Amino acid sequence: MNLQRLKANWIVPVDRLPIENGLIEIVDGFITTVRATEPYEVATDLGDVAILPGLVNAHTHLEFSLVEQPFQPALPFTGWIRSLVAYRRQEFTPTSTVQRDALSAGVTEAELSGTTLLGEIATLGWGEDALPTHCPSIIAFRELIGLRPESVELQLELAEEWLARGGHSKRVTYGLSPHAPYSVFPELLQRSVELATRFDAPVAMHLAETREELEFLSDGRGPFVEMLMSFGAWPEGGLPTGRRPLDILRVLADAPRALVVHGNYLADDEIEFIAARPQMSVVFCPRTHEFFRHEPHPWRKLLAHGANVALGTDGRGSNPDLSLWKELVFLRERFPDVAPSTLLELGTLAGARALGCEHDCGTITPGKRADLIAVSLRGNGDPLEEVLTADSKIMRTFGRERLPPSRGGEHA
Ligand SMILES: [Zn+2]
Repeated sequence: MNLQRLKANWIVPVDRLPIENGLIEIVDGFITTVRATEPYEVATDLGDVAILPGLVNAHTHLEFSLVEQPFQPALPFTGWIRSLVAYRRQEFTPTSTVQRDALSAGVTEAELSGTTLLGEIATLGWGEDALPTHCPSIIAFRELIGLRPESVELQLELAEEWLARGGHSKRVTYGLSPHAPYSVFPELLQRSVELATRFDAPVAMHLAETREELEFLSDGRGPFVEMLMSFGAWPEGGLPTGRRPLDILRVLADAPRALVVHGNYLADDEIEFIAARPQMSVVFCPRTHEFFRHEPHPWRKLLAHGANVALGTDGRGSNPDLSLWKELVFLRERFPDVAPSTLLELGTLAGARALGCEHDCGTITPGKRADLIAVSLRGNGDPLEEVLTADSKIMRTFGRERLPPSRGGEHA
Protein backbone atom coordinates (compact mmCIF):
# COMPACT_ATOMS: atom_id res chain seq x y z
CA MET A 1 0.00 0.00 0.00
CA ASN A 2 1.27 3.42 -0.96
CA LEU A 3 0.09 6.11 1.45
CA GLN A 4 0.61 9.81 0.74
CA ARG A 5 -0.49 12.81 2.74
CA LEU A 6 -0.50 16.29 1.24
CA LYS A 7 -0.95 19.47 3.23
CA ALA A 8 -1.58 22.92 1.75
CA ASN A 9 -2.77 26.36 2.83
CA TRP A 10 -5.96 25.75 0.86
CA ILE A 11 -7.77 22.83 -0.66
CA VAL A 12 -10.47 23.64 -3.19
CA PRO A 13 -12.47 20.42 -3.62
CA VAL A 14 -14.97 22.11 -6.05
CA ASP A 15 -17.92 20.03 -4.76
CA ARG A 16 -17.80 21.87 -1.44
CA LEU A 17 -16.32 25.00 0.12
CA PRO A 18 -12.54 25.52 0.22
CA ILE A 19 -10.75 24.11 3.28
CA GLU A 20 -8.07 26.24 4.94
CA ASN A 21 -4.97 24.37 6.12
CA GLY A 22 -6.26 21.26 4.45
CA LEU A 23 -5.02 17.72 4.22
CA ILE A 24 -5.56 15.10 1.53
CA GLU A 25 -4.78 11.47 2.18
CA ILE A 26 -4.13 9.29 -0.85
CA VAL A 27 -3.86 5.51 -0.87
CA ASP A 28 -2.60 3.83 -4.03
CA GLY A 29 -3.51 6.85 -6.09
CA PHE A 30 -7.06 7.23 -4.74
CA ILE A 31 -8.27 9.93 -2.37
CA THR A 32 -9.32 8.53 1.00
CA THR A 33 -9.61 11.63 3.20
CA VAL A 34 -10.11 15.38 2.68
CA ARG A 35 -10.26 17.58 5.77
CA ALA A 36 -8.57 20.31 7.81
CA THR A 37 -5.15 19.41 9.22
CA GLU A 38 -4.77 18.57 12.90
CA PRO A 39 -1.84 20.24 14.71
CA TYR A 40 1.51 18.39 14.35
CA GLU A 41 0.18 16.04 11.68
CA VAL A 42 2.91 14.58 9.50
CA ALA A 43 2.36 15.28 5.81
CA THR A 44 4.15 16.65 2.75
CA ASP A 45 3.55 20.38 3.14
CA LEU A 46 3.07 22.15 -0.18
CA GLY A 47 2.82 25.51 1.63
CA ASP A 48 1.18 28.58 0.12
CA VAL A 49 -0.67 26.87 -2.67
CA ALA A 50 -4.24 25.82 -3.37
CA ILE A 51 -4.76 22.18 -4.30
CA LEU A 52 -7.48 21.84 -6.92
CA PRO A 53 -8.81 18.91 -8.92
CA GLY A 54 -6.83 18.35 -12.12
CA LEU A 55 -8.25 20.26 -15.06
CA VAL A 56 -10.35 18.63 -17.75
CA ASN A 57 -9.79 19.69 -21.33
CA ALA A 58 -12.82 18.22 -23.05
CA HIS A 59 -11.85 18.99 -26.64
CA THR A 60 -8.49 18.86 -28.40
CA HIS A 61 -6.96 17.80 -31.69
CA LEU A 62 -3.48 16.84 -30.51
CA GLU A 63 -2.30 16.06 -34.04
CA PHE A 64 -1.79 19.81 -34.49
CA SER A 65 0.32 20.23 -31.36
CA LEU A 66 3.46 21.04 -33.36
CA VAL A 67 1.76 23.94 -35.14
CA GLU A 68 3.40 27.09 -33.78
CA GLN A 69 0.73 29.58 -34.82
CA PRO A 70 -2.98 28.95 -35.48
CA PHE A 71 -3.83 28.37 -39.15
CA GLN A 72 -4.73 31.47 -41.16
CA PRO A 73 -7.03 32.91 -42.24
CA ALA A 74 -9.46 32.58 -39.32
CA LEU A 75 -12.20 33.86 -41.64
CA PRO A 76 -13.88 32.71 -43.71
CA PHE A 77 -14.09 29.45 -41.75
CA THR A 78 -13.82 27.44 -44.97
CA GLY A 79 -10.55 29.28 -45.69
CA TRP A 80 -9.25 28.10 -42.32
CA ILE A 81 -10.32 24.51 -43.08
CA ARG A 82 -8.47 24.69 -46.40
CA SER A 83 -5.27 25.70 -44.55
CA LEU A 84 -5.75 22.83 -42.10
CA VAL A 85 -6.29 20.33 -44.91
CA ALA A 86 -3.19 21.65 -46.71
CA TYR A 87 -1.14 21.20 -43.51
CA ARG A 88 -2.38 17.62 -43.10
CA ARG A 89 -1.54 16.78 -46.71
CA GLN A 90 1.92 18.22 -46.42
CA GLU A 91 2.90 16.90 -42.99
CA PHE A 92 1.02 13.64 -42.45
CA THR A 93 2.70 11.52 -45.09
CA PRO A 94 3.03 7.75 -44.64
CA THR A 95 6.70 8.06 -43.62
CA SER A 96 6.35 11.13 -41.41
CA THR A 97 6.36 10.94 -37.60
CA VAL A 98 4.77 14.39 -37.21
CA GLN A 99 1.40 13.07 -35.99
CA ARG A 100 2.93 10.82 -33.36
CA ASP A 101 5.43 13.47 -32.25
CA ALA A 102 2.57 15.95 -32.01
CA LEU A 103 0.48 13.57 -29.89
CA SER A 104 3.35 13.08 -27.47
CA ALA A 105 4.18 16.81 -27.34
CA GLY A 106 0.51 17.71 -26.91
CA VAL A 107 -0.22 15.47 -23.93
CA THR A 108 2.96 16.67 -22.24
CA GLU A 109 2.01 20.31 -22.81
CA ALA A 110 -1.48 19.64 -21.49
CA GLU A 111 -0.19 17.92 -18.38
CA LEU A 112 2.32 20.66 -17.58
CA SER A 113 -0.52 23.18 -17.72
CA GLY A 114 -2.57 21.21 -15.20
CA THR A 115 -4.74 18.92 -17.33
CA THR A 116 -5.32 15.41 -16.00
CA LEU A 117 -8.15 14.36 -18.34
CA LEU A 118 -8.35 15.02 -22.07
CA GLY A 119 -11.05 14.63 -24.69
CA GLU A 120 -9.09 14.03 -27.87
CA ILE A 121 -10.19 13.75 -31.51
CA ALA A 122 -8.10 10.96 -33.03
CA THR A 123 -7.44 10.39 -36.72
CA LEU A 124 -5.68 7.74 -38.75
CA GLY A 125 -2.23 7.09 -37.29
CA TRP A 126 -3.26 7.73 -33.66
CA GLY A 127 -1.76 5.14 -31.33
CA GLU A 128 -1.41 4.65 -27.60
CA ASP A 129 2.20 3.63 -28.14
CA ALA A 130 3.00 7.27 -29.00
CA LEU A 131 1.88 8.42 -25.53
CA PRO A 132 4.55 9.24 -22.96
CA THR A 133 4.57 7.24 -19.71
CA HIS A 134 3.37 10.22 -17.70
CA CYS A 135 0.25 11.52 -19.25
CA PRO A 136 -3.32 12.60 -18.55
CA SER A 137 -6.17 10.11 -18.87
CA ILE A 138 -7.54 10.27 -22.39
CA ILE A 139 -10.93 9.76 -23.97
CA ALA A 140 -10.04 9.31 -27.65
CA PHE A 141 -12.87 9.95 -30.10
CA ARG A 142 -12.14 8.46 -33.52
CA GLU A 143 -12.91 11.05 -36.18
CA LEU A 144 -15.34 9.76 -38.81
CA ILE A 145 -15.62 11.68 -42.07
CA GLY A 146 -17.74 10.69 -45.03
CA LEU A 147 -20.31 12.77 -46.85
CA ARG A 148 -20.92 10.29 -49.64
CA PRO A 149 -23.25 7.37 -49.00
CA GLU A 150 -20.65 4.95 -50.37
CA SER A 151 -18.22 5.91 -47.58
CA VAL A 152 -20.56 4.83 -44.79
CA GLU A 153 -19.60 1.15 -44.57
CA LEU A 154 -15.85 1.77 -44.54
CA GLN A 155 -16.15 4.46 -41.86
CA LEU A 156 -18.25 2.15 -39.70
CA GLU A 157 -15.69 -0.63 -40.06
CA LEU A 158 -12.97 1.76 -38.87
CA ALA A 159 -15.23 2.87 -36.05
CA GLU A 160 -15.90 -0.66 -34.86
CA GLU A 161 -12.23 -1.60 -35.04
CA TRP A 162 -11.50 1.50 -32.97
CA LEU A 163 -14.06 0.77 -30.27
CA ALA A 164 -12.84 -2.83 -30.04
CA ARG A 165 -9.43 -1.44 -28.93
CA GLY A 166 -11.12 -0.20 -25.78
CA GLY A 167 -11.40 -3.69 -24.39
CA HIS A 168 -7.59 -3.98 -24.32
CA SER A 169 -6.70 -0.56 -22.96
CA LYS A 170 -6.00 0.55 -19.43
CA ARG A 171 -4.88 4.02 -20.45
CA VAL A 172 -7.44 5.22 -22.94
CA THR A 173 -11.21 5.14 -23.28
CA TYR A 174 -12.35 4.87 -26.88
CA GLY A 175 -15.24 6.87 -28.35
CA LEU A 176 -16.44 8.12 -31.73
CA SER A 177 -16.54 11.53 -33.36
CA PRO A 178 -18.70 11.84 -36.43
CA HIS A 179 -16.93 15.05 -37.41
CA ALA A 180 -19.60 17.67 -38.30
CA PRO A 181 -22.89 18.10 -40.20
CA TYR A 182 -21.00 19.25 -43.32
CA SER A 183 -18.68 16.23 -43.38
CA VAL A 184 -20.87 13.33 -42.24
CA PHE A 185 -23.65 11.70 -44.27
CA PRO A 186 -26.84 11.42 -42.16
CA GLU A 187 -26.77 7.61 -42.24
CA LEU A 188 -23.17 7.60 -41.00
CA LEU A 189 -24.18 9.77 -38.06
CA GLN A 190 -27.16 7.59 -37.23
CA ARG A 191 -25.24 4.33 -37.41
CA SER A 192 -22.16 5.61 -35.56
CA VAL A 193 -24.41 6.60 -32.66
CA GLU A 194 -25.96 3.11 -32.73
CA LEU A 195 -22.48 1.56 -32.74
CA ALA A 196 -21.35 3.75 -29.83
CA THR A 197 -24.44 2.71 -27.90
CA ARG A 198 -23.62 -0.96 -28.48
CA PHE A 199 -20.13 -0.38 -27.04
CA ASP A 200 -21.34 2.01 -24.32
CA ALA A 201 -18.94 4.56 -25.79
CA PRO A 202 -19.16 8.38 -25.78
CA VAL A 203 -19.74 10.43 -28.95
CA ALA A 204 -18.44 13.92 -29.74
CA MET A 205 -19.52 16.04 -32.70
CA HIS A 206 -18.79 19.58 -33.87
CA LEU A 207 -22.18 21.24 -34.11
CA ALA A 208 -23.73 24.69 -34.51
CA GLU A 209 -20.23 26.04 -34.94
CA THR A 210 -20.79 28.65 -37.69
CA ARG A 211 -23.63 30.54 -39.35
CA GLU A 212 -22.52 28.92 -42.64
CA GLU A 213 -23.23 25.50 -41.12
CA LEU A 214 -26.80 26.57 -40.31
CA GLU A 215 -27.20 27.70 -43.93
CA PHE A 216 -25.77 24.40 -45.12
CA LEU A 217 -28.27 22.41 -43.06
CA SER A 218 -31.31 24.47 -43.95
CA ASP A 219 -30.71 25.31 -47.63
CA GLY A 220 -27.91 23.00 -48.80
CA ARG A 221 -26.06 26.08 -50.04
CA GLY A 222 -23.18 28.36 -49.16
CA PRO A 223 -19.40 28.23 -48.71
CA PHE A 224 -19.36 24.65 -47.34
CA VAL A 225 -20.95 23.33 -50.53
CA GLU A 226 -18.40 25.19 -52.68
CA MET A 227 -15.55 23.85 -50.55
CA LEU A 228 -16.83 20.27 -50.56
CA MET A 229 -17.32 20.34 -54.33
CA SER A 230 -13.75 21.56 -54.80
CA PHE A 231 -12.54 18.68 -52.58
CA GLY A 232 -14.57 16.23 -54.69
CA ALA A 233 -16.46 15.26 -51.52
CA TRP A 234 -19.96 16.40 -52.45
CA PRO A 235 -22.42 13.49 -52.80
CA GLU A 236 -24.01 13.18 -56.25
CA GLY A 237 -27.51 12.83 -54.88
CA GLY A 238 -27.03 15.92 -52.67
CA LEU A 239 -28.09 16.03 -49.03
CA PRO A 240 -31.42 16.58 -47.33
CA THR A 241 -32.23 20.25 -46.69
CA GLY A 242 -34.61 21.88 -44.26
CA ARG A 243 -32.56 20.66 -41.32
CA ARG A 244 -31.18 22.39 -38.25
CA PRO A 245 -28.86 21.46 -35.37
CA LEU A 246 -31.89 20.20 -33.44
CA ASP A 247 -32.28 17.36 -35.96
CA ILE A 248 -28.69 16.32 -35.25
CA LEU A 249 -29.17 16.69 -31.50
CA ARG A 250 -32.10 14.25 -31.66
CA VAL A 251 -29.76 11.61 -33.11
CA LEU A 252 -26.91 12.37 -30.69
CA ALA A 253 -29.29 12.14 -27.73
CA ASP A 254 -29.38 8.34 -28.15
CA ALA A 255 -25.63 8.01 -27.39
CA PRO A 256 -24.62 7.02 -23.83
CA ARG A 257 -22.77 10.37 -23.62
CA ALA A 258 -22.85 13.05 -26.26
CA LEU A 259 -20.55 16.06 -26.46
CA VAL A 260 -21.80 18.92 -28.60
CA VAL A 261 -18.55 20.61 -29.50
CA HIS A 262 -18.74 24.42 -29.78
CA GLY A 263 -22.53 24.99 -30.04
CA ASN A 264 -21.82 28.64 -30.81
CA TYR A 265 -25.12 29.16 -32.63
CA LEU A 266 -27.54 26.97 -30.69
CA ALA A 267 -31.11 28.27 -30.71
CA ASP A 268 -33.20 28.52 -27.54
CA ASP A 269 -35.14 25.30 -28.17
CA GLU A 270 -31.85 23.48 -28.83
CA ILE A 271 -30.45 24.77 -25.55
CA GLU A 272 -33.57 23.48 -23.79
CA PHE A 273 -33.26 20.14 -25.56
CA ILE A 274 -29.67 19.68 -24.31
CA ALA A 275 -30.47 20.93 -20.82
CA ALA A 276 -33.24 18.36 -20.48
CA ARG A 277 -30.81 15.48 -21.19
CA PRO A 278 -28.11 14.86 -18.57
CA GLN A 279 -26.17 12.60 -20.96
CA MET A 280 -25.55 15.61 -23.24
CA SER A 281 -22.99 18.38 -22.77
CA VAL A 282 -21.75 21.38 -24.68
CA VAL A 283 -18.02 21.95 -24.96
CA PHE A 284 -17.19 25.66 -25.10
CA CYS A 285 -13.70 26.54 -26.36
CA PRO A 286 -13.31 30.18 -25.24
CA ARG A 287 -10.10 31.29 -26.95
CA THR A 288 -10.88 29.38 -30.14
CA HIS A 289 -14.30 31.05 -30.10
CA GLU A 290 -12.48 34.39 -29.88
CA PHE A 291 -10.04 33.42 -32.67
CA PHE A 292 -12.93 32.88 -35.09
CA ARG A 293 -14.64 36.12 -33.94
CA HIS A 294 -17.97 34.38 -33.39
CA GLU A 295 -21.06 36.01 -31.96
CA PRO A 296 -21.30 35.74 -28.13
CA HIS A 297 -21.43 32.12 -26.96
CA PRO A 298 -24.63 31.02 -25.16
CA TRP A 299 -22.73 29.27 -22.32
CA ARG A 300 -24.37 31.30 -19.56
CA LYS A 301 -27.80 30.68 -21.02
CA LEU A 302 -26.98 26.96 -21.15
CA LEU A 303 -25.91 27.05 -17.49
CA ALA A 304 -29.03 28.99 -16.52
CA HIS A 305 -31.12 26.22 -18.09
CA GLY A 306 -29.15 23.58 -16.17
CA ALA A 307 -27.11 22.21 -19.09
CA ASN A 308 -23.65 20.78 -18.53
CA VAL A 309 -21.00 23.06 -20.07
CA ALA A 310 -17.44 21.75 -20.30
CA LEU A 311 -14.40 23.63 -21.56
CA GLY A 312 -11.85 22.82 -24.23
CA THR A 313 -8.83 24.41 -25.81
CA ASP A 314 -9.50 22.87 -29.24
CA GLY A 315 -6.28 22.20 -31.14
CA ARG A 316 -3.31 24.43 -31.78
CA GLY A 317 -4.74 25.02 -35.24
CA SER A 318 -7.03 27.63 -33.65
CA ASN A 319 -5.45 28.36 -30.26
CA PRO A 320 -1.91 29.43 -29.32
CA ASP A 321 -1.52 26.63 -26.71
CA LEU A 322 -3.24 23.72 -24.96
CA SER A 323 -3.59 25.29 -21.51
CA LEU A 324 -7.06 24.81 -20.04
CA TRP A 325 -5.85 27.00 -17.17
CA LYS A 326 -5.43 29.89 -19.60
CA GLU A 327 -8.99 29.31 -20.81
CA LEU A 328 -10.18 29.77 -17.22
CA VAL A 329 -8.10 32.90 -16.68
CA PHE A 330 -9.39 34.25 -20.02
CA LEU A 331 -13.00 33.69 -18.92
CA ARG A 332 -12.31 35.25 -15.51
CA GLU A 333 -11.02 38.40 -17.18
CA ARG A 334 -13.81 38.57 -19.76
CA PHE A 335 -16.66 37.74 -17.40
CA PRO A 336 -15.75 39.21 -13.99
CA ASP A 337 -19.41 38.92 -12.94
CA VAL A 338 -19.28 35.10 -13.12
CA ALA A 339 -18.18 33.57 -9.81
CA PRO A 340 -14.73 31.95 -9.99
CA SER A 341 -16.21 28.85 -8.33
CA THR A 342 -18.53 28.47 -11.34
CA LEU A 343 -15.62 28.75 -13.76
CA LEU A 344 -13.57 26.20 -11.82
CA GLU A 345 -16.46 23.78 -11.94
CA LEU A 346 -16.64 24.13 -15.74
CA GLY A 347 -12.93 23.32 -16.02
CA THR A 348 -13.10 20.29 -13.71
CA LEU A 349 -16.34 18.53 -12.74
CA ALA A 350 -18.35 19.58 -15.81
CA GLY A 351 -15.59 18.32 -18.08
CA ALA A 352 -15.42 15.02 -16.21
CA ARG A 353 -19.20 14.68 -16.50
CA ALA A 354 -19.11 15.42 -20.24
CA LEU A 355 -16.54 12.66 -20.72
CA GLY A 356 -18.35 10.17 -18.51
CA CYS A 357 -15.72 10.24 -15.75
CA GLU A 358 -17.48 12.16 -12.97
CA HIS A 359 -17.32 9.15 -10.65
CA ASP A 360 -13.53 8.90 -11.13
CA CYS A 361 -12.34 12.52 -11.09
CA GLY A 362 -13.37 16.18 -11.40
CA THR A 363 -13.55 16.95 -7.65
CA ILE A 364 -11.38 16.26 -4.62
CA THR A 365 -13.60 13.63 -3.08
CA PRO A 366 -12.82 10.39 -1.23
CA GLY A 367 -13.07 7.46 -3.63
CA LYS A 368 -11.93 9.42 -6.67
CA ARG A 369 -8.52 9.32 -8.32
CA ALA A 370 -5.95 11.71 -6.93
CA ASP A 371 -5.85 13.84 -10.09
CA LEU A 372 -4.74 17.08 -8.48
CA ILE A 373 -2.97 20.33 -9.23
CA ALA A 374 -1.19 22.76 -6.94
CA VAL A 375 -1.64 26.44 -7.85
CA SER A 376 0.41 29.29 -6.42
CA LEU A 377 -1.26 31.74 -4.03
CA ARG A 378 -0.19 35.12 -2.70
CA GLY A 379 -1.68 34.67 0.73
CA ASN A 380 -4.37 37.34 0.45
CA GLY A 381 -7.36 35.44 1.70
CA ASP A 382 -10.11 33.94 -0.45
CA PRO A 383 -8.39 31.32 -2.63
CA LEU A 384 -11.25 31.32 -5.14
CA GLU A 385 -10.75 35.04 -5.81
CA GLU A 386 -7.00 34.70 -5.95
CA VAL A 387 -6.45 31.57 -7.85
CA LEU A 388 -7.69 32.48 -11.33
CA THR A 389 -5.38 35.33 -12.22
CA ALA A 390 -2.89 35.83 -15.01
CA ASP A 391 0.06 35.59 -12.61
CA SER A 392 -1.07 32.46 -10.77
CA LYS A 393 0.98 29.42 -11.68
CA ILE A 394 0.37 25.70 -11.85
CA MET A 395 3.18 24.50 -9.59
CA ARG A 396 2.55 20.78 -9.93
CA THR A 397 0.27 18.28 -11.60
CA PHE A 398 -0.36 15.07 -9.71
CA GLY A 399 -1.74 12.75 -12.25
CA ARG A 400 -1.88 9.26 -13.44
CA GLU A 401 1.83 8.52 -13.15
CA ARG A 402 0.93 6.58 -10.04
CA LEU A 403 -2.17 4.90 -11.29
CA PRO A 404 -4.00 3.43 -14.22
CA PRO A 405 -7.54 4.72 -14.89
CA SER A 406 -10.12 2.90 -12.85
CA ARG A 407 -12.22 1.89 -15.86
CA GLY A 408 -12.23 -1.82 -16.48
CA GLY A 409 -12.38 -2.43 -12.76
CA GLU A 410 -8.63 -2.72 -12.21
CA HIS A 411 -7.24 -0.42 -9.58
CA ALA A 412 -3.89 -2.15 -9.26
ZN1 LIG B 1 -12.54 20.56 -32.92
